[in-house]
Amino acid sequence: MARRTEQRPDAARTDDLSSTIAALLPALEAFLRFEGADPAGRRSAWRATLDQPLPTRGEGADAVLDALRTILIPNGLRTGHPGFSGWVTTMPTTVAAAANLASTVTAAQRWWATPANFIEQLALRWLATLLGLPASFGGTFTGGGSTANLVCIGAARQHAAERAGIDASRDGIAGLREPRIYASTQVHHVVGRALGVLGMGRRHLVSVPLDDDGVCDVRELRRLFSADIAVGCTPVAIVASAGDVNTGRIDPITEMSDLAREHGVWLHVDGAYGGFGLLDDRVRPLYGDVSRYDSLAIDPHKWLAAPVGTGAAFVRDPDILGRAFTVEPGDYEAPRGRGASSADLTSPFEELGEGTPDHGVDFSTPSRGIAVWAILKEIGAEGMRDRVRRHLDCARRVAEVAHEHAELEVLAEPVLSICCFRYRPNGVTADRELDALNTQIVKDVRARGRCTPSSTIVDGRFAIRPCFINARTTLEDADALVQEVLAAGRARSAKR
Ligand SMILES: *Cc1c(COP(=O)(O)O)cnc(C)c1O
Repeated sequence: MARRTEQRPDAARTDDLSSTIAALLPALEAFLRFEGADPAGRRSAWRATLDQPLPTRGEGADAVLDALRTILIPNGLRTGHPGFSGWVTTMPTTVAAAANLASTVTAAQRWWATPANFIEQLALRWLATLLGLPASFGGTFTGGGSTANLVCIGAARQHAAERAGIDASRDGIAGLREPRIYASTQVHHVVGRALGVLGMGRRHLVSVPLDDDGVCDVRELRRLFSADIAVGCTPVAIVASAGDVNTGRIDPITEMSDLAREHGVWLHVDGAYGGFGLLDDRVRPLYGDVSRYDSLAIDPHKWLAAPVGTGAAFVRDPDILGRAFTVEPGDYEAPRGRGASSADLTSPFEELGEGTPDHGVDFSTPSRGIAVWAILKEIGAEGMRDRVRRHLDCARRVAEVAHEHAELEVLAEPVLSICCFRYRPNGVTADRELDALNTQIVKDVRARGRCTPSSTIVDGRFAIRPCFINARTTLEDADALVQEVLAAGRARSAKR
């Protein structure tokens, strides 16, 4: 059905979807086998090929497909390799990727009435149910955990301002005296940025030191909090990490929520990484009473393996999102038809969808819930529970084996799916020497290609840090990682 026969400069292909996508499939399948050397580090090979000036005349669809097939796909990021435990983000599973393709092709939007829009709201409800949030909770999908935290902290700001008689969204926060947000030193740095974006200032994120368990020191939090109140500051929110991305530890949420309640202050929980840990009964009590959270940030593009670009923000009282993220009707719009089937709606569309653009910072967006819905429909709550359990088991296995080996040392006991450990050969005790040795070991292990952990600093010491979150990873891969570290460590030590 080639409609465009004359060769105009706008030769964008609008048909031939099957053959266009089919042209990419062999390369995509090959990529998913993760064969051969990891493409990371081949930048010099493809950079020059891609770095071309803007073409005046289009090069045609085949040139694009060719570049995708030969450059983009084979040099993709192998975060889905079963041995990859380097980051807290991972690759989408197959059905999730297919769902996003379907949604892209059908121009699914967040709030126009289509099945995709209905699914968007349904997926939010499913996600809330999965996490055990009470029915009153509502929210919005976002581009990721960063925006999810921004939306939640925006709601907290609206809440604090309203208590002072100010509509922050309409009037700004000039009248809000010295706003402060409290979080441990391990809080993800996007929370600081949220303060910056929301006009409260990054330096007004009060950093609470860690206690002996490596989580927010609540006594210290109380002290800092009271001292600030005494000099007239406005506490806007207490932010708990569940879990932090370095060690996977979970802040003492119940105690933090007690303090928040005592003062009517917003409790936000950043569960972008670890929120799905709620599904494992072994750690469930650490999350406290979720019905007491004022907001929760969660990242389906992490543990749930939705495509990157899928975060979610939940708040206990969704109405506050509407007040914090109000979009005034434009002069070009009929009076307030949005979300309702208003008779005086001049839009040619009979009805707008469910949900509202007033609940976040996007207006037109892809329908991010499609992938979440697809995944949950495919594997169900039990499937996700199984994945989370398996990954917690992986981290526990690494710790167990490390405890058995005199040459290995656990630096942070696993709580969720992270285990921080290091190689420590007999007789070597100096941290500086061990830091250097383990830095080398991580490089060696990565170069061998079977496993890709990352590293972090725990109590000032360099740690090998696997984060098990990858749908393709099993216990076998956790065992392989320990073996790889032992092999690399022994080889390095023998050379000294
Ligand atoms: C990943 C993460 C973020 C940032 O989320 P993005 O999806 O990368 O934007 C924030 N907080 C925590 C705890 C995270 O794990």
